Amino acid sequence: MELYQRTIHELHNMLKKGETTSVAITDSVLKRIDAVEGKVKSYITVTADIARAQAEAADKRIKAGDTSSPLLGIPIAIKDNMCTEGIATTCASKILGNFVPPYNATVVAKLKQAGSVLCGKPNMDEFAMGSSTENSGYFITRNPWDLDRIPGGSSGGSAAAVAADECIGSLGSDTGGSIRQPAACCGVVGLKPTYGRVSRFGLVAFASSLDQIGPLTKDVTDTALLMNVIAGHDPKDSTSADIPAPDFTKALKKDMKGLRVGLPKEYFIEGMDPQVDKAVREAVRTLEALGAKVSDVSLPHTKYAVATYYILATSEASSNLARYDGVKYGYRAASPKDLLDMYMRSRDEGFGPEVKRRIMLGTYALSAGYYEAYYKKGQQARTLIKRDFDEAFKTVDLIATPTAPTAAFKIGEKSADPLQMYLSDIFTISVNLAGIPGISLPCGFTAENLPIGLQVLGRNFDEESIIHAAYAYEQATEWHTRKPTL
Ligand code: GLN
Repeated sequence: MELYQRTIHELHNMLKKGETTSVAITDSVLKRIDAVEGKVKSYITVTADIARAQAEAADKRIKAGDTSSPLLGIPIAIKDNMCTEGIATTCASKILGNFVPPYNATVVAKLKQAGSVLCGKPNMDEFAMGSSTENSGYFITRNPWDLDRIPGGSSGGSAAAVAADECIGSLGSDTGGSIRQPAACCGVVGLKPTYGRVSRFGLVAFASSLDQIGPLTKDVTDTALLMNVIAGHDPKDSTSADIPAPDFTKALKKDMKGLRVGLPKEYFIEGMDPQVDKAVREAVRTLEALGAKVSDVSLPHTKYAVATYYILATSEASSNLARYDGVKYGYRAASPKDLLDMYMRSRDEGFGPEVKRRIMLGTYALSAGYYEAYYKKGQQARTLIKRDFDEAFKTVDLIATPTAPTAAFKIGEKSADPLQMYLSDIFTISVNLAGIPGISLPCGFTAENLPIGLQVLGRNFDEESIIHAAYAYEQATEWHTRKPTL
């Protein structure tokens, strides 16, 4: 087995025993990137020189006997919407094409402190708006399982890089499903933590009340290890929760005894691919065999989730993206006639079509006379959706659903129809509206050999029960050991 194919925990054990070095691991990953990046196109920026320098520094620490950090010397990719000091951070947008942040996001600083190696900044949908990376302002990332298909989005580059072994683990961000849906499409593990669990300081804002950073990894153990580094209170983010982060690796338990799992009937719907339905139901039987108590639950306001999300997320986006006007950040149109012309052309030339669509939708929803009918109604619907989960979690500890209604679709299949694209998030969006945590992990393959994702949701700040169930399931199955052939 090549070093690049291994997990964080395997490599950590090898580093501890002196069986390999961070330089060897990093070289192996960089060679892998050279070999497959032409096909997959996961990265906007590969930071090879920085990675080598950080690997050398990690090896010095290890030589001096410091092996306490499981991330020490491990190559990690960080989605291109998290600020990296001195390294381009584009959000896959032309408008931030020349933006080099003067500071690190908190998660980046934490990973650096843990000694991890930054191997690059993966591609994404522009400003994280999308489900396929087709909205990237630069290029489309391809699904390593089938290069004619999308890797999911918006963290498509982060998920594809993990699946294609172009990094050992990565970070993504999830506003309506952008960690979980690409994880499902690429056959990897992706966790959206509880809102407030991980600092958003230095994450370029899309919809601030929904955005959350989380790990994409090859297995559940690695998810726990990355969570141990990135979770926790941060005074620089006013929405960061002042709740101590546990040791998530303590939740890695092999049976499900005592856990109650609910199946929401609203998530097993017509229009869902029967192969997905079958795989998820089979997965639930496995959870049952592991000792879980399974029952039906109802989340009656699910039908409003997509509409609610696309009012609230676009409203917040229209406000957050007002700062890109050619003055302080990024792209400025050439030889403007006057100030207004500079603002208008910088935005017109800098933003792609989906971002413009969202700015227009959000501006409309927030405008005088419409605010009550759209934004305020959206907030009220959000409360109802959140209450559905509160109610369900009175009788169950976890909720299991499909992550997405279909496996990865073909490039171009939905890009002409924004509504079809928006529906790919039908099972992930409510989770962000409610603020609760959720994971996607591989639970099978379609006849075309495309991965299928199982989504497991938990109560606020109970990522531990999610990790517990996900680990038990993973250990009882072999889906996570399959690799695409590239
Ligand atoms: N696909 C959803 C959207 O386009 C979610 C994106 C995300 O989670 N960042 O808004």
